Amino acid sequence: MEKIKMTTPLVEMDGDEMTRIIWKMIKDILILPYVDLKSEYYDLGLEYRNETDDKVTFDSAYATKKYGVAVKCATITPNAERVKEYNLKEMWKSPNGTIRAILDGTVFRAPIIVKGITPYIPSWTKPITIARHAYGDVYKNTEMQVPAGSKCEIVCTDKNGKEIRQTIHEFTDSAGIIQGLHNIDKSIASFARCCFNYALDTKQDIWFATKDTISKKYDHRFKDIFSEIFEAEYKEKFDAAGIEYFYTLIDDAVARVVRSDGGYIWACKNYDGDVMSDMVATAYGSLAMMTSVLVSPDGTYEYEAAHGTVQRHYYKHLKGEETSTNSVATLFAWTGALRKRGELDGLSDLCDFANKLEKATIDTIESGIMTGDLYLLSSLENKKKVNTEDFLIAVNETLKAML
Ligand code: NAP
Ligand code: MG
Repeated sequence: MEKIKMTTPLVEMDGDEMTRIIWKMIKDILILPYVDLKSEYYDLGLEYRNETDDKVTFDSAYATKKYGVAVKCATITPNAERVKEYNLKEMWKSPNGTIRAILDGTVFRAPIIVKGITPYIPSWTKPITIARHAYGDVYKNTEMQVPAGSKCEIVCTDKNGKEIRQTIHEFTDSAGIIQGLHNIDKSIASFARCCFNYALDTKQDIWFATKDTISKKYDHRFKDIFSEIFEAEYKEKFDAAGIEYFYTLIDDAVARVVRSDGGYIWACKNYDGDVMSDMVATAYGSLAMMTSVLVSPDGTYEYEAAHGTVQRHYYKHLKGEETSTNSVATLFAWTGALRKRGELDGLSDLCDFANKLEKATIDTIESGIMTGDLYLLSSLENKKKVNTEDFLIAVNETLKAML
């Protein structure tokens, strides 16, 4: 078979620990034999980030802005322990944080569903994709503990020095707590556009919910910005695509999500997204089956797995012990990126290949061959646990039969 040609390079961001091992296996076993891979390689492994004073992370994000599509391996976010372990010059920031700040993107997380692994909510037969607004609210708050007898006010000074004051609370007979939150219209608008674009891109309905009945200015502003942008820029496109934008109260949304069968995008404010993404991920069964894509408002895509570097398995691997680490989410990051590259460059054979590789992966698991994490969850009778590499080899056998 002749290898599939690419025209524009894919930005490839390598990473750390067990996922770095998996990264190479995926390329060697499932990508390079079939695709004449054109990639611009950035090593985001912690050692090289340290060597370049983290410049490589910035460079990889600028390259993503330039070319439009990236695939990223999980990376270590250093903490005090890692500074020691890797003898770091500094406690470098989270690469995902750096990349997200440069691309101004929204993260969409969606589960990969396979037969034999029933979600804790069994009616969820289709994926629920969560989009989390990653700016502001309680994550950039100012808070205080205040003694009894305090009067707390909120003060806004405009550019001419004019003050507007409102009382938050008079703490007459008890001490208490206060908190100041903010968000910015620009960030909310960019979140809205990312969500509407991704809904069009994946042909799924989009739901958004806040508590606007209680928070008549703050949450209501989110509702209004979404609604204005939808009416002005997206309504016709949604009608043409046969998809819907649905707004409701957050508590109503939670109730509807639980009763639903999935198959839509759920856009969440920052805190709701933090909490609900963990709930949804757990309910679908395994973090190792959760994909993640960062989408910028101008249409840049960075694909990755939602899980981390699977450190515990890596230490086993270093000791020469056999591992059974699930590579599916990392593999789907590759197929997502290759398919998007194919769509943008009009390479239908590249898109076909990505679709077939995904199907081969799901078929392999549904035929009973899986890694240890899924083996524990699967209800299939003929299930068989295989090691990290043998799983990818089995996927390749399924793929070969399909090509
Ligand atoms: P983790 O790598 O997601 O792993 C946590 C546990 O979940 C693992 O020990 C394993 O459980 C299970 N697991 C996760 N992915 C799996 C897979 N593909 N196959 C099988 N089991 C899987 O989280 P962590 O151990 O808390 O974090 C490790 C490092 O990853 C940290 O340095 C953190 O900074 C980094 N991290 C990076 C990203 C990112 O780059 N996007 C995201 C999160 C964390 P068992 O051990 O029980 O088998
Ligand atoms: Mg969380």
